[in-house]
Formats: sequence, C-alpha cells, structure tokens
Amino acid sequence: MYRLVCVHCSVEYPLDAIRYNSEMCGHLLTVEYDIDEITTPREELNRRPISIWRYKEFLPVRIKPVTLQEGVTPLYHLKKLGEKFGLPHLYAKHEDMNPSGSFKDRGIALDVSMSKLRDKCSVAHASTDNTSASMAVYAAIAGMPAVVLLLTWHVALGKVTQALMHGAKIISTRGNFDRVLEMVHEFCVNHGIYFLNSINPYRQEGKKTIGFEAIDQLGCVPDRMVLPVGNAGNISPRSTKICASGVMSATSTLY
Ligand SMILES: [Zn+2]
Repeated sequence: MYRLVCVHCSVEYPLDAIRYNSEMCGHLLTVEYDIDEITTPREELNRRPISIWRYKEFLPVRIKPVTLQEGVTPLYHLKKLGEKFGLPHLYAKHEDMNPSGSFKDRGIALDVSMSKLRDKCSVAHASTDNTSASMAVYAAIAGMPAVVLLLTWHVALGKVTQALMHGAKIISTRGNFDRVLEMVHEFCVNHGIYFLNSINPYRQEGKKTIGFEAIDQLGCVPDRMVLPVGNAGNISPRSTKICASGVMSATSTLY
C-alpha cells in the first residue's frame, strides 16, 4: 500500500483523484510506502527478470503496466577510467539503452501506466528533449494521443522528430520554460488530460528503479552513486526511497 503525501506539510491525500500539488500549501506531492507491509522474499525478486517491474511492490502501478521492458540497461565496469582516478570498482549504467534511448523511459512508462489506472485517455507535457520522445513512444503503445508543448528554438531536433514519428502533437510557443510548464498544467487540468511533467508525483517512482537495478547487478550496495541532477527529480526518489526501502543502507552517499 502507498500514500500520496505533501512534501511540505505532510497532509495525506486520497488516491482516487489526480493531484499534482498539495491543496493545503501548493507544494509538491510524493509517494510513500508502508515498507513494513512489503513481505515479498528477496528470493522471489531474484527470480523475476531485471526491469523496473521487478520491483513492483515498491511502485504504485496496480494494473498491467504499459511497458517496452524498460530498464535492464547494461552496467559497465570502467576499468581504465577507474585506474586513472584510483577507483578500481567504478561502474556506469548505460541508460541510453532504454527503449526510446533515454533514462526518461523509467518514469514515463510508470506514469503512462498510472494514467491508464486513472482512466485518462490522453497525456501532455512541456519538454525540449528526451521526455517528449519517451512520452510519444509510450503513449503510442498505450493508444493515447500525446501533446508536447515546447519552446521555439530551444529544442533537440532529433528528439522532437522522434516524438513526431510516434504521433505526438507538437505545439511550439515562445517564452520561458516555467511559463510553458504553467500553460501545460492549466491545459491538462482544464481538459482532463494527464499531466506528465516532473511535478507529477508518480514520475519519480519509475526513476528510482535505476538504483535498485544497479544494486542487483553489482550484487552489493555501492559506496557512492553519482547522478545527473537536472531539476533534482532524479536524485530525490533515490536518496529517500532507496534508503527507506532498506535496499540501500543509509550510509551510502548520493552525488
Ligand atoms: Zn502541503
């Protein structure tokens, strides 16, 4: 079982409605689990194929997920680079090996699945990069229309092309990204479309599986994990949820 909780005032919200912010204070929401109630034996997890769905008890999706077997990305031992820096056990996850070509697939696969769970039939978000391509791919798999709002001249053309090829509707506008984000949020709320940007509390849930997966591939808990931060959504679920789940010890450090 899990709960939807405000990160600021800790107010808990029911799961039957879609919320992107706390109604009490406007802050972001996060997903919390009753870790003690998860009793799946480690041996059973080990028998499952490695993918983000191997850890389904630690994820909020309770239906058959929309999936292209995301995750399962290679973990490379960087011997030469490690020798250079005196780190004999230096490894890197190759997240470009995900189905659409980016780590975004972990969060998008999970959140498109959540949109189906919430009976939504279309998805939208603001993006300039990998997220637009990933959303378009997973929306196509789910049979949903997808809308991408992006900033004119601030796009990765290859990724926008990828989104177009998978049937997404692309709307180009001027302004700054924060304003575009507000516009998409309003658009989704007013028209009943599922909002897929990172303020959606479920987006982070798929992302945290990279930590679970790395630990399974290594066979141990790493001393340190180094992550790209971006808007910090990438690091928040790992630092809190991985430790909370007991998969990673609290002494491990995230950078
Ligand atoms: Zn709050």
